Amino acid sequence: MNCIFCQIANKEQPADFVYEGDNVIAFKDIKPSAPVHILVVPKKHIDSVKNLEEGDRDLVSEVIFTAKKIAKEQKFDEGYKLVFNVGRKGGQIIDHVHLHLLGGF
Ligand code: AMP
Ligand code: ZN
Repeated sequence: MNCIFCQIANKEQPADFVYEGDNVIAFKDIKPSAPVHILVVPKKHIDSVKNLEEGDRDLVSEVIFTAKKIAKEQKFDEGYKLVFNVGRKGGQIIDHVHLHLLGGF
């Protein structure tokens, strides 16, 4: 599949990884919009939050808990942002679900 985040998950494209688990990866955003900008991504290809299915509940939970863990490691003690862009008018460009972790402000 011609999906950049699937290719990163499969190590067919490089990325600056900060985490890899069985189901979820996290890597630095190539064009950061915060002092620290990390993308937390399920390995499974799901195109958008709007197409999540009931069976994806645990995976989405794991994405959020992974972001929380990375935020702690990054010492974002005073706060951070977690953002899902959904659909073109929601700012989503890459059609593979990802959670933006923005911190270090
Ligand atoms: P979104 O607008 O929510 O779809 O966010 C996609 C994000 O992916 C943007 O912030 C891009 O800078 C980022 N991005 C695109 N390609 C790559 C890549 N190869 N490695 C890391 N981040 C990327
Ligand atoms: Zn994908």
